[in-house]
Amino acid sequence: MSRVIVIGAGISGLSSAYYLSKYIPPSQIVILESTDRLGGVIKTAQFGSASVEAGPDSFITRIPTVLELAQELELDSALISPATNSAYIYNNSKLHPIPKGTVFGAPSDLGTFFGNSLISLPGKIRALAEPLLAKANIPGDITVGKFAQDRWGKEVAQILVDPLVGGIHAGSAFELSLIKCAPQYFTAAKSHRSVTKGLNAMTMRAEKAAHPPFYSFKGGLTSLVQAMHQYLVTAGVTIVPNFSVWLIENTKDGFKVHGDNSTFESEKVICATPAHVSANLLKKISSRASALLDTIDYSSPIMTLLAYESNALSERPVGSGVLVPKPNKMLTTAVTFASNKWPDCTSEGEFLFRISSARHGDSRAWKLNDEALISNLEVELRDILATRARSIRSEVHRWGKSLPQFRPFHDQLVSRIRESLPKNLELAGSAYKGVGIPVCISSGKEAAERLKE
Ligand SMILES: Cc1cc2nc3c(=O)[nH]c(=O)nc-3n(C[C@H](O)[C@H](O)[C@H](O)COP(=O)(O)OP(=O)(O)OC[C@H]3O[C@@H](n4cnc5c(N)ncnc54)[C@H](O)[C@@H]3O)c2cc1C
Repeated sequence: MSRVIVIGAGISGLSSAYYLSKYIPPSQIVILESTDRLGGVIKTAQFGSASVEAGPDSFITRIPTVLELAQELELDSALISPATNSAYIYNNSKLHPIPKGTVFGAPSDLGTFFGNSLISLPGKIRALAEPLLAKANIPGDITVGKFAQDRWGKEVAQILVDPLVGGIHAGSAFELSLIKCAPQYFTAAKSHRSVTKGLNAMTMRAEKAAHPPFYSFKGGLTSLVQAMHQYLVTAGVTIVPNFSVWLIENTKDGFKVHGDNSTFESEKVICATPAHVSANLLKKISSRASALLDTIDYSSPIMTLLAYESNALSERPVGSGVLVPKPNKMLTTAVTFASNKWPDCTSEGEFLFRISSARHGDSRAWKLNDEALISNLEVELRDILATRARSIRSEVHRWGKSLPQFRPFHDQLVSRIRESLPKNLELAGSAYKGVGIPVCISSGKEAAERLKE
């Protein structure tokens, strides 16, 4: 019997094991992973001679957990930042720079904001009226989309806020929690009658950051997973790949963790699987926790990688990429110009794109096979870039039920789930605190700290 079993070797499970190994002998820790690779949705694909991210492509530095981990793993010299961060919004068949004078899509400086080419004149005039509105009354929590629409009007909410905030979750801002998904707006609304002025005050107060806003690693995000893997194995942690857990049961001294052909026993367990998987695993341990976990909805984004001959593109795209708001009814939700953003990872003479599709509630892309999806996305890319070029290589990565959707009052739901779990059983993962890699690392760290005694 081991001390702790960690189920799932995504970044949350790996972090749980990493921080646990600081408190208990690593030989007492076992990680069970259902696939043959570590990292979960973190996957740097070998795409021709280039390395391109098939899942996440960078992490924010404002939350320092990845930087701390990188330093401990002596990976900090491999940190790289995007060569460009300037992005566009494609709307009504035109590319527009993301408006200046905004914070996460919301207007913060109306004078500067007024100069943008994206929002119509009536839309701008409506946004300009925000400082005249009464102080926002937020009854506990509401959706980001409703909040933005009430403050700055429908057009700003749909064309600007939704692609930025909803895009991170491959979801809709009109379904996502204000407190979880746009806490900046919530803080500004608490402190100021005008949210615009509150956001402006926040940008004025913001100290100069010590790091660029985003980082990745030379060789891609998989470098972090590989470094964690090597550290854990060297320390003596047991990692069991191709072990799909289907049930956890209580025993007199702890837990039995059942896979298809064998069972592991331990005193403590960390479930670092997606909430819908944990719901199944915990059915026997707590039917209430299981039912509550099952209410956490997920989106299923698809990442398509496309390579073009650079010479075939009529003009080289500018900036880091494009967001496509929902009213345009395209399959594409976002395009990363990978060759501009990460020039060191690209192949000579080629231009590489990452195209995201399949936001929550839109299953059109999932109904297409890879070939049909690629051909539809290529047609859309031709419109976005006004080019006639055809791709020379492509690859589709489907991430089914991978991004949790935080509905209003999510924190309260998570508290109820935790209250329904027995002692020595912890949850870690993107479904609880937040979806970004830095927050997943802190969720693993906190789970480890709760089980360290
Ligand atoms: C397409 C995409 C783009 C993203 N972009 C960014 C970005 O740019 N920046 C950023 O910070 N974040 C981004 N995210 C979010 C971030 O990558 C994820 O939230 C985070 O990596 C999730 O890690 P996790 O360990 O919680 O879950 P996962 O990565 O889902 O890991 C769960 C693990 O559990 C395993 N598992 C499942 N069932 C079982 C079972 N029954 N038994 C054993 N093991 C099991 C899985 O195989 C997997 O390895 C993105 C996510 C996606 C999907």
